[in-house]
Amino acid sequence: MNPEAQKLYEEMKTRLAKVVPDFELAYKAEIAVEINALKKAKNAVILGHNYMEPVLFYSIPDFKGDSLDLSRKAAQTDKDVIVFCGVRFMAETAKILNPSKTVLLPAEKAGCSLAASITGEDVRALKRKYPGVPVVTYVNTYAEVKAESDICCTSSNAAAVVDSLKSDTVIFLPDQYLAGNVARETGKHIIFPTAGVDAMPSSLVDVQLIGWNGKCEVHEKFTVEDIRAVREQFPDVVVLSHPECSPEVVQASDYSGSTNAMIRYVQQTKAPHFLVLTECAMGDNIAAANPDKDMLRLCMVRCPHMNTITMEDTRDALKYNRYVIEVPEDIRLRAYQAVERMIQIG
Ligand code: SF4
Repeated sequence: MNPEAQKLYEEMKTRLAKVVPDFELAYKAEIAVEINALKKAKNAVILGHNYMEPVLFYSIPDFKGDSLDLSRKAAQTDKDVIVFCGVRFMAETAKILNPSKTVLLPAEKAGCSLAASITGEDVRALKRKYPGVPVVTYVNTYAEVKAESDICCTSSNAAAVVDSLKSDTVIFLPDQYLAGNVARETGKHIIFPTAGVDAMPSSLVDVQLIGWNGKCEVHEKFTVEDIRAVREQFPDVVVLSHPECSPEVVQASDYSGSTNAMIRYVQQTKAPHFLVLTECAMGDNIAAANPDKDMLRLCMVRCPHMNTITMEDTRDALKYNRYVIEVPEDIRLRAYQAVERMIQIG
């Protein structure tokens, strides 16, 4: 192992020895050194989402965080190339904000069940049905959906974005559970199209939030029964859940927030045990950053899309300039308005 890789390996071992096997740390330290050299040579910046696997998360990203954080970093970078260690809709958002830069996604098929649940035409149909009603879309959507929206939001600012519209009725897309949680937080009613837009009521009497039936295939798996079973075994556990979990799970938790908010909560709270109901790699990343805290995990769920981003693919993305993210300019310009409005709200 060359001295640079050796140094990185030692650093990673200090932090990750409890969550990653030693041989993997040694192997990946060498790849990280290659990536860092390529990053310098190509004048690139690497953005790493909180759901990246621990070795990647703690070795190569220049910036780490949730969607909102990384959108802000993407908007501010002066580098020529942005490598997004996350999923496609995130890389698209970086491209929407940086049309002149090359944006690379290391795995071509890193999708998202929420983003795949709705199309631009679905949004147009909703707008025809409810003319004049403002459309809020979660950033977990593709550019053509953002382009049909008035404003985007993330899980950390969804309620603030809805409130900012000062509208009696809001169309909130596409996450059914996040919409339910926002409805509870903002006191708004909500309806969902169970059999397509045509089946929705035309009258908006008593309806203040119109949702969609998209779900995150990871967070929908957590149940109130899971929480009950863990509390039975560890009565003093503090349960944190992501707002993409069902409203019932969120209500049964002690705290709910975006990935960044959950990380902060664990750092700032004293408790004998924590249970974090979100993508499993993030539990490992929090455990590595907080060796003094006991993190319980329900690791039956890893996001099959986030999971496709590897160190090897990230190195090859820089080496072979792949996979380049493009967004047609007419769509980008309209999507930009919605994303920029969200960033302004913070
Ligand atoms: S964790 Fe859920 S919302 Fe996030 S990328 Fe995976 S499927 Fe999409």
